[in-house]
Amino acid sequence: MTLSTFQRQLLGLDESALLARGSQQLQRPVWAALARLTEAATEEGFQLKVASAYRSYDRQRNIWNGKLSGERSVVDDTDRAIDMTSMSPEECFACVLRFSAMPGASRHHWGTDIDVFDAGAVNESYQVQLSAAEVAVNGPFGLMHEWLDQRIAQGRSFGFYRPYDKDRGGVASERWHLSFAPLAVDCQRECSADLLRAVWSDKAVGEVSGRQELSQQLESFFERFVARVAEPPKSALEYLPPA
Ligand SMILES: [Zn+2]
Repeated sequence: MTLSTFQRQLLGLDESALLARGSQQLQRPVWAALARLTEAATEEGFQLKVASAYRSYDRQRNIWNGKLSGERSVVDDTDRAIDMTSMSPEECFACVLRFSAMPGASRHHWGTDIDVFDAGAVNESYQVQLSAAEVAVNGPFGLMHEWLDQRIAQGRSFGFYRPYDKDRGGVASERWHLSFAPLAVDCQRECSADLLRAVWSDKAVGEVSGRQELSQQLESFFERFVARVAEPPKSALEYLPPA
């Protein structure tokens, strides 16, 4: 299977559509919409900052392989480390997939998705965790996320919405994760289990831990941990940047 440029972009293998600002990369229209959202946040007294934007296939592969080998810790819903040594491969995958995507299946590959926080709510030395506690109502970033909820509900979020707004039994709720609907919707449509199989079988892009076992049940893992996300609100989907 020869991958098209668009497919390579979806998989985090082609950065030609991305624009770098500082250490982060996103698609140009996403930067423009983010500037407007940031400005609106500033007016309300929030310092909306990006903790994570584009992530390459290789970076995701390192995270994935590191978690399956035990080099990186895997945590449960209450942030406690999970001991996976006596688990079946399928059980391990489910634990990792709760918070981390399979290589090639991260929305962060697309240049359309970001993790955000309120830099004004913490001091400069604070290490952002992207944890449930931080974005809870009484957490440091709770107020900004309430404000974001309102903007999204009112159709005033400049195209951004929350794909992981609540726990659907797949990926955990991730309130810090925003997606730019007008571009992300096309990426999501093109992403498939077959596309992942194709890239994983390419030795040139490196080995994916558990590939064989994962491939056997890939359709079910794909449905639960990739496809099962919130629908973008119509207002976000139809957002048009000002000419
Ligand atoms: Zn994210």
